[in-house]
Amino acid sequence: MKVKELGIKKTEILIDYDYVWGLLNRSGLNVSFSRPEIYVGSEHVDKFFEIASQKSLVVANSTEAVYDWKADAIYINDELINGAGYSRSNLCSSRRLVLLHELIHAFLFHNNKRFGEEQDALTKSENKRSQERGWVYTVFDEGFAIRLTELILTFWSDVQDGEFASSLALILKDEYRELKSDKDFRLRALILKLPWPESGWKKVALRWFEKHPHGLYGLSYVLGYNFTEHIIQDLNKNSIDMVSRIVETPPSRVEHILYPQRYLSQKVFPKMQKSIGQNRNPHSKL
Ligand SMILES: [Zn+2]
Repeated sequence: MKVKELGIKKTEILIDYDYVWGLLNRSGLNVSFSRPEIYVGSEHVDKFFEIASQKSLVVANSTEAVYDWKADAIYINDELINGAGYSRSNLCSSRRLVLLHELIHAFLFHNNKRFGEEQDALTKSENKRSQERGWVYTVFDEGFAIRLTELILTFWSDVQDGEFASSLALILKDEYRELKSDKDFRLRALILKLPWPESGWKKVALRWFEKHPHGLYGLSYVLGYNFTEHIIQDLNKNSIDMVSRIVETPPSRVEHILYPQRYLSQKVFPKMQKSIGQNRNPHSKL
């Protein structure tokens, strides 16, 4: 793709893509893969989506950005170029956040190929246990991408990018809190014949999602973020080691996602030192 053929806004996206690739490489994470190709603009949509029906067209048009592990490429649609849905003041931070988020998906795939073909196959499996594993990978994949993007922008980019990433994370935290009083879960408790509120929403969620793992999809950002935030609090050396371990041995059960402390009690995780309070100031190293 030649820059001179592109409009000014497309060029801005390419500049931000260079910028966030630089942030990822400076973050301390083990980035040993080449930078994925990037395709900017809806004219590339058919390279990433099979548009066979009206429904698939809607999905393709509403997908702002995607990392395709088969092509090892990132697609950005026109919405992000035009800035529709974004205020002028945070358009630059939005672009960086979206681009870095997709790069983190690429990071995860390149460090553990389960986040690709295997994940796809598992979610489609007839076997409930395999499906559970596949959907839990999906939840983790999203939560990990959101959390790492937030941390990298907070520690390595400018204040505005960090604040923007944190404001989006706050929305997810609020949604997580609201789950407890979600009438949907009360209904599920009734169906499962579990008492409410004595059981607590997590017990209901555990029983429900073990039976219907595809239902995790709708809550993947919220549950995935809560799980990853509990485990990765920083980008210091301990946390970077933790990232490597978690990528090697990702959560595979609904129970892990709902109860991160149970996931951590597996023996692959030696007693993790609490990383809160050991923040370094990466800006001092720039
Ligand atoms: Zn994502």
